[in-house]
Amino acid sequence: MIALERVSKHYGGVPAVDDVSLTIPTGEVFGIVGQSGAGKSTLARIVNLLERPDRGTVTVDDVELTALGETELRAARRRIGMVFQRFNLLSSRTVRGNVELALELDGGSRAARRDRAQEMLDLVGLGHRGDASIHELSGGQQQRVGIARALASRPSVLLSDEATSALDPETTDSILELYRRINEELGLTVLLITHEMDVVKSTCHSAALLEQGRVVEQGRLVDVIRTPGSRLTSQLFPLGPVPDGVPADATVIDITFAGGTADRPVIARLARDHDADVSILGAVVERIAGTQAGRTRLEVPGHVAGAVIADLRAQGLLIEVLQGVAA
Ligand code: ADP
Ligand code: MG
Repeated sequence: MIALERVSKHYGGVPAVDDVSLTIPTGEVFGIVGQSGAGKSTLARIVNLLERPDRGTVTVDDVELTALGETELRAARRRIGMVFQRFNLLSSRTVRGNVELALELDGGSRAARRDRAQEMLDLVGLGHRGDASIHELSGGQQQRVGIARALASRPSVLLSDEATSALDPETTDSILELYRRINEELGLTVLLITHEMDVVKSTCHSAALLEQGRVVEQGRLVDVIRTPGSRLTSQLFPLGPVPDGVPADATVIDITFAGGTADRPVIARLARDHDADVSILGAVVERIAGTQAGRTRLEVPGHVAGAVIADLRAQGLLIEVLQGVAA
């Protein structure tokens, strides 16, 4: 478990991380999402205490890192693996050498380091490339080496700061697939820092939205998508603003479907039961945290809007009114 309590960090009087409290349960893939400059990387450095917060406490696996001295902290950091956007590999070493480097502080035998490095390279699908030099590898393969290195010292937490931001979409997917596997098979807690909502959507169980150093929303994605007015959710379902050309007297609503409820039968029945000309303005279906979820935007004639909205809410659906009657 990772627990941040009221953590703040200022640079020249300006807050980069501002009074952040977060609890990340063991075994979760937790996303920290936000725009550039939101404070994500600062928060990542605070979690492993590469950066000391001005205020607040950081606890990882029941050890309060903020209470430790430098020597103890160096040992505790071995429990936190870190993966970077720019891979941060040494080009003077082979692929295997880069992974072994992470083990050299541990003081085991050379043979043990070699075995462990091989095991980690096998895990990330590069078992046959141990003798290659770094520049022979593609970006995606280099990031796999970065992940193997981060896992070598058997951490309980993997911290990933924009690890896929330099990669193309296909390579990104394969790295995220690897993260999901690591999370499931090794039970690692993964803190996934990203500016890309798609990364959160495909891989995270929970997420926090960071803005100007503050957490403005957080929760399990399955709960977040059921939360009216959630900003994370509107980014998960990018339907955009109400299009031009919708009559001023029409009502526009977004219906969120989660876990099983399908939109077509619901909408067909609405039109029939209310004898109303309901049109679909947009729809997105996504797989979020392993659940099928979707959001459909409807235009409903103003005179039946109140009844339609009451009907949908009675079915337990989440309705947001974007224009018109807010029944
Ligand atoms: P993100 O990773 O979300 O893009 P950062 O954590 O890198 O955001 O930065 C948050 C804010 O803190 C930015 O305004 C940035 O300029 C500032 N900042 C980050 N690191 C430093 C630093 N070492 N010195 C001064 N300002 C910094
Ligand atoms: Mg950053």
